[in-house]
Amino acid sequence: MYLALGSNLGDRAAHLAHARARLDALPGVRVAAASPVEETAPLGPAGQDPYLNQMLALRTTLEPEALLDACLAVEAERGRDRAASPRWGARTLDLDVVLFGARRVATPRLRVPHPELPNRDFWHRGLAALGVDWREALAAVPA
Ligand code: ADP
Ligand code: MG
Repeated sequence: MYLALGSNLGDRAAHLAHARARLDALPGVRVAAASPVEETAPLGPAGQDPYLNQMLALRTTLEPEALLDACLAVEAERGRDRAASPRWGARTLDLDVVLFGARRVATPRLRVPHPELPNRDFWHRGLAALGVDWREALAAVPA
């Protein structure tokens, strides 16, 4: 599966490195590959600092919702405080499940493929760096 990392608060590179190391250490999760880190202009509320973004390829035996739980826990370790920041506002660490093989998930907690995938060109570049054409990957997911 493919996981998008983002950070625009504090030591951004350290947050990304922490996420990568912690995910790789989880039972049933291996970081198979990582895209180059890219700096991007912030989306959402104005006045935010730029982001560092990275795409990871993970091999996992976890179910999608269990992987989401692990991601939320890793975000919390880096002091992510959802209450302090609006949607798409500044954050120490944001982990988004972009693709999970050819699976589609649509629950109240998790939507995969991530609905923003068609709109985020830095995700497209991150996936391309890992050898994935985002359009082909999306087309492989059954409706
Ligand atoms: P955003 O990433 O949109 O800025 P958050 O990181 O605060 O917002 O995530 C809010 C909620 O989005 C999470 O608690 C999670 O339950 C839900 N969510 C739904 N689909 C996904 C997905 N594909 N990846 C990560 N979170 C998701
Ligand atoms: Mg998120």
